[in-house]
Amino acid sequence: MKRVVIVGSGISGLSLAFRLKRRGCEVTLYEKEGEAGGNIRTRSESGYLFELGPQTILADEKILTFFRELDLKPLRAEPSSKNRFIYRDGRLVPLPLNPVAFLTSPLLSLKAKLRVLKEPWIPPSAGEEESVADFVRRRLGAEFLDYIVAPFVSGVYAGDPEQLSVRYATRKVYALEREFGSLIRGALKKKALGPGGVLISFEGGLRELVERLSQELEVRKSCSVLSVRRKGEGFLLETCRGEDETETLVLSCPAYTTASLLAEISGGASRAFEEIDYVPLVVVNVGVKSGRVPEGFGLLVPRREGKRILGVIFSSKLFPGRAPEGRDLLTVYLGGATDREVIDLSEEEVTDIVVRELKDILNTEDPEFVHVQKWRRAIPQYGIGYGRYLNLASELEKSHRGLYLTGNYLSGVSVADCLRNSEEVLRRMEEAGELPR
Ligand SMILES: Cc1cc2nc3c(=O)[nH]c(=O)nc-3n(C[C@H](O)[C@H](O)[C@H](O)COP(=O)(O)OP(=O)(O)OC[C@H]3O[C@@H](n4cnc5c(N)ncnc54)[C@H](O)[C@@H]3O)c2cc1C
Repeated sequence: MKRVVIVGSGISGLSLAFRLKRRGCEVTLYEKEGEAGGNIRTRSESGYLFELGPQTILADEKILTFFRELDLKPLRAEPSSKNRFIYRDGRLVPLPLNPVAFLTSPLLSLKAKLRVLKEPWIPPSAGEEESVADFVRRRLGAEFLDYIVAPFVSGVYAGDPEQLSVRYATRKVYALEREFGSLIRGALKKKALGPGGVLISFEGGLRELVERLSQELEVRKSCSVLSVRRKGEGFLLETCRGEDETETLVLSCPAYTTASLLAEISGGASRAFEEIDYVPLVVVNVGVKSGRVPEGFGLLVPRREGKRILGVIFSSKLFPGRAPEGRDLLTVYLGGATDREVIDLSEEEVTDIVVRELKDILNTEDPEFVHVQKWRRAIPQYGIGYGRYLNLASELEKSHRGLYLTGNYLSGVSVADCLRNSEEVLRRMEEAGELPR
């Protein structure tokens, strides 16, 4: 039986392991932490069910099929989750959901709206790789960047649009300009600008997915892989519980760990992956008395509004069972590329900021429940020139038979991207003749 060793039991490693097992492989997963799931961590406390990492999965048809194969029953977010709010000039403005609402919305000034309408006539860029900010300013104007795109970029990457590459961080938007010469024309032809799919979680939160995937797998928890060397045709791993050997090895840990594990195999790739920037995030789950939180997915705060909160998800409005009767659960995000210092504040300092700013934004009373989670290296940033890392990853796999790389620093940061990416790894293994087709 073919044996595969996977380092890292985040959703990238777990979903790949599960698929390999179904294809008849023997799979061993090594996990540094005491629990599987990586960034996916659900907790229950004081009657609240809350997420420390991802909240929802934007699931397409293939992912929903995968969940059916797992016998999982996804919960769709409430229909009102289509409502999203942007905080502007001290109040919450609904994000317009259609062209008429856009033209009448107070979210942008008249001048900014007229600027957006010019977009179809702006020629595609012929020049250098652009940042998301340069691209959006050029095509849609500065106000559209500040009040619509930048908050969404911070919602996905906790990133700085001045640093992120439009080509690698917002691939679909970039492709619209390449294919149709205009985002508006492209969106009208494709009938959608955003990524397709339904927003889901599970009754017990995202940990249900992790638990289900882990059920049939051998996950060696609290067991770091410390180094990897070539040995003959295969690989020799030094783990904190001794050595292990394998002919097929998948590194599904973050880029900075992959960098250190690759040190003896490829010094160049190792040094390059070490450079990939991960921004910090602080996630604060807050329980408040019901009555102040609008129906919807949540709100985003443009940096120009002078607050430290990046955004808030109205978690108990999305799925049932997240908060006790008469209470709402809010999940608040701070930090990211534009406010890295938050990570060094104490939990009390973070709580004070959150309570004060939630009062300003949502007029909430003092919370009855607060949980602070710090992620020092939360999300990889697909900056300008990111293609270099992707090329390196693919060259490395080609030059080292049996070695595969996966994880959120390669093909998109969302959980859905990671699930799709593990199918891609499976395909590469098939192509290399490592798996029966
Ligand atoms: C706060 C936050 C909120 C997010 N919100 C969303 C959201 O709402 N929706 C969404 O789609 N995405 C969201 N994301 C992104 C998404 O959760 C991640 O990109 C995804 O879960 C990453 O999965 P992964 O398996 O690639 O990496 P990880 O989850 O980082 O897993 C890597 C694993 O490798 C292990 N590891 C590291 N080094 C070693 C070693 N030497 N030996 C053994 N094991 C090792 C780690 O402990 C970890 O378990 C969010 C991310 C964060 C941090």
